[in-house]
Amino acid sequence: MSNQAPDTEKTQTLLRELPSVDRLLNTSLAVDMMLAYGRPLTIESLRHSLETARSAILSGQASYAPMNAVLVDDARVWLESFLAPTLQPVINGTGVIVHTNLGRAPLSQAARQAIEDTAKGYSTLEYDLASGERGSRSVHAEQLLIRLTEAEASLAVNNNAAAVLLMLTALCQGKEVIISRGQLVEIGGGFRIPDVMAQSGAALVEVGTTNRTHLRDYAKAITENTAAILVAHHSNYKIIGFSSEPALAELAELAHEHNLPLLYDQGSGALLDSTPYGLESEPTVLDGLAAGADLVAFSGDKLLGGPQAGILVGRQELVARLKRHPLARAVRADKLCLAGLAATLTHYLTDNALTEIPVWRMIARPLQEIAAEADTWAARLQEVGIKAEVVDGRSTVGGGSLPGTSLASRLVAITHNEPDQLARQLRQEKIPVIGRIQDGRFLIDPRTILKDQVEILLQSLVNCAME
Ligand SMILES: *Cc1c(COP(=O)(O)O)cnc(C)c1O
Repeated sequence: MSNQAPDTEKTQTLLRELPSVDRLLNTSLAVDMMLAYGRPLTIESLRHSLETARSAILSGQASYAPMNAVLVDDARVWLESFLAPTLQPVINGTGVIVHTNLGRAPLSQAARQAIEDTAKGYSTLEYDLASGERGSRSVHAEQLLIRLTEAEASLAVNNNAAAVLLMLTALCQGKEVIISRGQLVEIGGGFRIPDVMAQSGAALVEVGTTNRTHLRDYAKAITENTAAILVAHHSNYKIIGFSSEPALAELAELAHEHNLPLLYDQGSGALLDSTPYGLESEPTVLDGLAAGADLVAFSGDKLLGGPQAGILVGRQELVARLKRHPLARAVRADKLCLAGLAATLTHYLTDNALTEIPVWRMIARPLQEIAAEADTWAARLQEVGIKAEVVDGRSTVGGGSLPGTSLASRLVAITHNEPDQLARQLRQEKIPVIGRIQDGRFLIDPRTILKDQVEILLQSLVNCAME
């Protein structure tokens, strides 16, 4: 037993029985490991395994030396866990559709295919097939963006933070940008509008108060040093009550009277109206352009439902200035992003965004369908004795869009003695399951569960929730 003082003589005998690394390397199991993982890591894992065995003997926990096969097997287990990717798929049961921590938008089948086709080999990234000469990477997603938004020009970059930074750097460096105090927002992950402005070398001119800013506040702030008026979507917060800001169209008019561009950080990339599904109205990219914004910046992986990207649409002359700026090269979109983005945008053009783009499919999913699915799952769990029931709940859009508004949903609620432990165990499944705990119950929202994950989810719930 481990609490007995180790018998030194026996300990020494056991230690001597442990094989050398070289001996283990000659076993057929270790040879297989070397073929799979290479020699250096195999040796490291065998050393690790021997070290663990040695400690067990020294502490008196082992009463015999493990066989070679056991040592090699332990080495393999250690190595597999060492090599397991840390970026791995999970099942999102939180009901937050654009969950930034869980990778934002899942991609459509067509977008995934386009990415794979492009990743596999060479492509026309910057090659014009008609002339056989150098082409431009701008033609891929950007032509589609122009078609969709009827903007004069567009540019895709790495993400929306980069789009805003590029816009301010290329157009406003060394000059002033006017923005409402109520829009000096932090979006999470440390993206703060004031910090980005500082980084761009533009000087921030704050106008109005936290809750109210009037058109005249902007008008008074315009000087010969003003380069632009910036409007930033409030993103993840909302001022309720006595608050107001001028409409985008009024600001566009004011900016244009002074020959200034109106720059609009729209954020979510919504191209469709979300009100038919019970969400509050959120200004779309098209609303921004229609109101007269000269440049609209937004993310590719929020409500647009595509890969991570930052997109700028607007006036030709301004986009051309952005493209010429050296920073444009530093933040440009890569070929996989452009492939996925073009395929995603095509869904909007061909009018099948609601059925093909997962984010929109989840938003538009009828409540009865979610309720029926929740009932089926709860019944399956009850069959094996799990205390599952179906309760009313809300799904949210997330991703800093539509703050304070949510979609009615039906959730599977599991009553468990230790909900925190259940949640932890579910996170340790082969495909981890992420849910939420409320009032001592573990909740899963079917809205954000992908079809091909349902059986895996139910199996995991059965594995972990049976008491
Ligand atoms: C999300 C968001 C950003 C940042 O976009 P990323 O694509 O995450 O870089 C900037 N502005 C607004 C208004 C946003 O909602």
